[in-house]
Amino acid sequence: MRHLHWFQQDLRLKDNPALRSHAAADSLLCVYLMPRPKPWCNTVGLGPQRDRFLRESLVALQSELQALGQNLMVLEGSPELVLPDLVAKFGITEISLSRCHGYHEAKSLEFLERKLEIPISVHRGNTLFEPEDFPFELQDIPGVFSPFRRRVESLNINKPLAEPEYLPPPPAAQYDDIPPSLHGRHPALPLPGGPAAAERRLHQFIEVERSITRYKETRNCLDGMDGSSTLSPWLANGNLSVREVAHRIFSFERDHTANESTYWLYFELLWREFFHWRAVVDHHKLFRIGGVAGKTRQTPFEPRQFARWCAGDTDYPLVNALMRQLVATGWMSNRGRQIAASCLIHELQGDWRFGAAFFEKHLIDFDVGSNYGNWQYIAGVGHDPRGGRQFNLEKQAQQHDPEGLFTRKWDGYRAPQPLYINDAADWPITETDSRDA
Ligand SMILES: Cc1cc2nc3c(=O)[nH]c(=O)nc-3n(C[C@H](O)[C@H](O)[C@H](O)COP(=O)(O)OP(=O)(O)OC[C@H]3O[C@@H](n4cnc5c(N)ncnc54)[C@H](O)[C@@H]3O)c2cc1C
Repeated sequence: MRHLHWFQQDLRLKDNPALRSHAAADSLLCVYLMPRPKPWCNTVGLGPQRDRFLRESLVALQSELQALGQNLMVLEGSPELVLPDLVAKFGITEISLSRCHGYHEAKSLEFLERKLEIPISVHRGNTLFEPEDFPFELQDIPGVFSPFRRRVESLNINKPLAEPEYLPPPPAAQYDDIPPSLHGRHPALPLPGGPAAAERRLHQFIEVERSITRYKETRNCLDGMDGSSTLSPWLANGNLSVREVAHRIFSFERDHTANESTYWLYFELLWREFFHWRAVVDHHKLFRIGGVAGKTRQTPFEPRQFARWCAGDTDYPLVNALMRQLVATGWMSNRGRQIAASCLIHELQGDWRFGAAFFEKHLIDFDVGSNYGNWQYIAGVGHDPRGGRQFNLEKQAQQHDPEGLFTRKWDGYRAPQPLYINDAADWPITETDSRDA
């Protein structure tokens, strides 16, 4: 039995149930395919920090696998072409993967299931719950967060699994080192990829500095590390299991103290969970200009305004600082994302999908459900009956950057490379354009 595990957003050994399914195999080929996002809404490829964080995560995974006598093969190319080739070349008899919630990932899987005549086992992804845990059918998942939260927040969450002690050996093949990123970490938020760094930050935030006890008051801080947990990059790349985070919160509450802030960190994990499962159900509607609601949304889309937003060159100093922070560090706080998104949608009358695509390119914590779902909320094309969120930018600046320190910090920063492709032939895209076209 020659097995293959296709790593995607599960770049870890701990609490990765798919890896345990190979104990009886004669060999196991561990593969990762570099993401090659298609040009979409005038963005293409991975931003410097997203590329950097991903490569660091892969290097860390490869060395963890090597410690178990295994290895990681990192290849370029689409799964539809590369995986069938590998199956033929190595005589693979079974494939495993951890469930991903993206529409395109689901389409690739459907294709492989049709094309390959071998079993493909899909294991638990990086979620708190599985569909069978829910007190409703997945198709009937509430469209709005609060009813979803009320129905799931006291469900049992499985304890994270330890990492496997044994993995079958890799087949004889060429396993290259992962080329390092051309970009270094930015000193303003030098988060390294990989499970060890994830564990250090989790330990620091919950057990060492006990910042979790003040989280509800500090979470809107615009700089990373000072306010919120900054766990999202490791969660999104699968360096860190979300069940691990939940159980560490519960242990802290049991052994030390429980207050509104400790609960609130769990509450935010439920938002992540909500967007994850909504993405599974909403399919390609996640990428439509009219969103899941299919609303008609006219935007007098002006490419130069979008370019200025991307470059941090709008008439709103706080938005400029946030956009420069995003490009430089690959991260932006939740409040920052709301302000920047609201500016593009409501002040600049931009197409929300272009903003979401720009975030997709740069965010080191890019997660398809959370990103597109949050953008839809702000644009008012999600399920939320409240119909969009417009933030008063002046008020937000007074509230979250009263002395202008954050804004000044990013004042002189200029991106080292062009921020978007300005190809007039691509403008404008239409309602029918969608990533599944
Ligand atoms: C326009 C927009 C785009 C976004 N895109 C992404 C994205 O691509 N990837 C992503 O992980 N989050 C996204 N978010 C949600 C949120 O901004 C980030 O999860 C959060 O800022 C990450 O920082 P943190 O880890 O310090 O969060 P914390 O405040 O410490 O929260 C802990 C964890 O809860 C989850 N979480 C918190 N808030 C949200 C939320 N609103 N929606 C979903 N999950 C949440 C994250 O996993 C986060 O790591 C987006 C929000 C907006 C408004």
